[in-house]
Amino acid sequence: MTTTESPPKRRIGVMTSGGDAPGMNGAVRAVVRMSIAKGCEAYGVYEGYEGLVQGGDLIKKMSWDDVRGWLSEGGTLIGTARCPAFRERDGRRKAAKNMIMKGIDALVIIGGDGSLTGADKFRSEWPELLSELVKQGEIRKEQAESHKHLNIVGMVGSIDNDMSLTDATIGCYSSLGRICQMVDYIDATASSHQRAFVIEVMGRHCGWLALMSGVSTGADFVFLPERPPPVEWEKQMCSIVSKHRKLGKRKTIVIIAEGAHDRQLKPIKASRVKDLLSNDLGLDTRITTLGHVQRGGNACAYDRILSTLQGVEAVKAVLESEPSTPSPMISIIENKIVRRPLVEAVAATNKVAELIENKKFEEAITMRDAEFAEYMQAFDITTATDKQDMLLPEDERMRIGLIHVGAPAGGMNAATRAAVAYCLTRGHTPVALHNGFPGLIRHHDDQPLGSVREVEWLDAEQWASRGGSEIGTNRGLPSEDMETVANCFELYKLDALFIIGGFEAFTALSELRQARQKYASLKIPMVVLPATISNNVPGTEYSVGSDTCLNALIEYCDAIRQSASASRRRIFIIETQGGASGYVATLAGLGIGAFAVYTPEEGINIRMLANDIQWLRDSFSKDKGQNRAGKIILRNEKASQTYTTQMIADMIKEEANGRFESRSAVPGHVQQGGTPSPMDRVRAVRFGVKSLQHLEEFRRKRISKEEIAADNMSAVVIGIRGAKVKFSPMDEIEKEETDWKDRRPKNEFWLDYKDVVDTLSGRPTAQNVM
Ligand code: ATP
Repeated sequence: MTTTESPPKRRIGVMTSGGDAPGMNGAVRAVVRMSIAKGCEAYGVYEGYEGLVQGGDLIKKMSWDDVRGWLSEGGTLIGTARCPAFRERDGRRKAAKNMIMKGIDALVIIGGDGSLTGADKFRSEWPELLSELVKQGEIRKEQAESHKHLNIVGMVGSIDNDMSLTDATIGCYSSLGRICQMVDYIDATASSHQRAFVIEVMGRHCGWLALMSGVSTGADFVFLPERPPPVEWEKQMCSIVSKHRKLGKRKTIVIIAEGAHDRQLKPIKASRVKDLLSNDLGLDTRITTLGHVQRGGNACAYDRILSTLQGVEAVKAVLESEPSTPSPMISIIENKIVRRPLVEAVAATNKVAELIENKKFEEAITMRDAEFAEYMQAFDITTATDKQDMLLPEDERMRIGLIHVGAPAGGMNAATRAAVAYCLTRGHTPVALHNGFPGLIRHHDDQPLGSVREVEWLDAEQWASRGGSEIGTNRGLPSEDMETVANCFELYKLDALFIIGGFEAFTALSELRQARQKYASLKIPMVVLPATISNNVPGTEYSVGSDTCLNALIEYCDAIRQSASASRRRIFIIETQGGASGYVATLAGLGIGAFAVYTPEEGINIRMLANDIQWLRDSFSKDKGQNRAGKIILRNEKASQTYTTQMIADMIKEEANGRFESRSAVPGHVQQGGTPSPMDRVRAVRFGVKSLQHLEEFRRKRISKEEIAADNMSAVVIGIRGAKVKFSPMDEIEKEETDWKDRRPKNEFWLDYKDVVDTLSGRPTAQNVM
């Protein structure tokens, strides 16, 4: 097998095809730079398959500098097209010839299922196409011989998230972000006038955008192609909407996928839904069709990072492939980038469409990823105010405490809202413990019935898209007064506890678990949902709020870099938050294409700085004016006690001798973000519901307090670990996986990403420096 250490020099083509999607440029940038870094040559194929069929200038060698700044650009800069000619064998023969003439026999395609189907067909025909070309004298035998295998690697670029065997497609979260932004705007006006809005979103065969926007904005009803509503859907929708109104909701939002239909596949149109809401419920109703704004704009943090990591993986896949390796599609499962057989992914995707056409809706849903079904369930549970069949028997209902601990993070409210709605649907009593543990302790002393409150559906209903912490958060730990905390648990008869927060929340659970020996009231099931911008909680690779932070930081960096376009030759040292974890700095570094990232894990030393300054000198001296935007170094706030952000900026300025400038910037609390990102909101809802289901299990088992305390799954952290969502027992994580001194996990999954930042910025690696 060919190893990545000694790759053969290859010519790798990269193209975007089908509908454009935000993040495609990030993918092309990563493929081009990674190819060059691995000693290969990269060729951009312009205008999708049209470029392959026409050849000539539409297949261009790309240099390192050609893709500079591409991460921040929307759409696709190498163009895309629908190309009927490539569907014909003759078109593919021309394409093969054009590739051979340029010496290209590896192709990375970023597109939807159609584009990937075409690519696989091309690969399977390749040997025949070449022998035909040889026979007709269009290429030489030796040319055919030296390129006899075509490597195809697929990456999925599509805003619909309609491809099977991957959780997310490049572009889907950017599109979701745009939709949620629009729905949030509409929300405000709807609420002011007590109006109803029917919002149509994209998705001909796939309801992902409709479902996720419904979950993240707290819509009242959604229509999805995979799950047509019941036969009497008109009645069901009106009943849900009027119940929400009766509970005091001032607005109604119904989201409808453009491909929505009923169980007989008859399209459900926005106008029909509007008529029902207006005529049957008497609501002042408007329709908004979002259209192409859903495609527009630059990519969100997630899509930039995903496209970058997948582009890197695609080049590795090309270099590692052998003639017998099936063409891979680069996908992501939860948090893990993996390769899946392209043919299987396309077949599974087509199968979903076929099942829908044959009205086998339940099967269609099982063919989508597991996440989809979970989100559907979460949506139902958090909006169902009328489902008597979901209520638990009296003796299985619990009083569940909800508490926020630590600094605010985007999505904390969404998780709390989901937990409240879940409780009410199942018959539990949600009890908000306001202002963290200090609030609870104080309340017990001097303000009875103040900061411990049962939450009503309507209170929480408004929280879906709000930033900050509606029930108040505090860094204080239960150990400040464990006895009072335990007394409060008893006084308020808490049967379970749902803690939302960062490293302090994690510490709080650890303390409560250990104090169980002394206080019987703490022998209840407890879950921590990690929520912190720093993403430094052991037991998970993702914390709610970290995506919002990355988006805020990336927007900030984009703006700052833009400001340099007039002055040129400027390097910015930007200080990021993150405590002693370099996660935020590194992931933002991937998302903006930072020149370097300084983390606490690696530290900063003088040789590193000298080397970086030298490298800056070299690259600015080669600059012929094309390097108009500034360069960025991201320095985590705790990367070094000595080399402060300002000091580094001053050192660079001094050493630059006027050849370039430097500036420092500290975005500070901007990084907490305003409105939480859709990813943080939807994951908060999903994990909130899962956590409550976990807590509920303990009551169903009807076990004693002693047995609860003895079960190590009664004090857990919910999180994403690799390709799975898991509950991890606190007693194991606190001992084996936690670096208590630096307040971070012992093994941080993202450490290798720093090398990717370095490779793609061309920075000489740390090994060369030391
Ligand atoms: P989107 O999800 O945005 O629709 P897509 O990749 O599915 O993206 P398509 O229009 O289906 O978009 O395909 C893009 C191009 O891929 C087509 O114009 C055509 O050139 C090529 N293509 C699609 N299907 C095939 C096929 N079965 N055989 C050969 N080429 C194909």
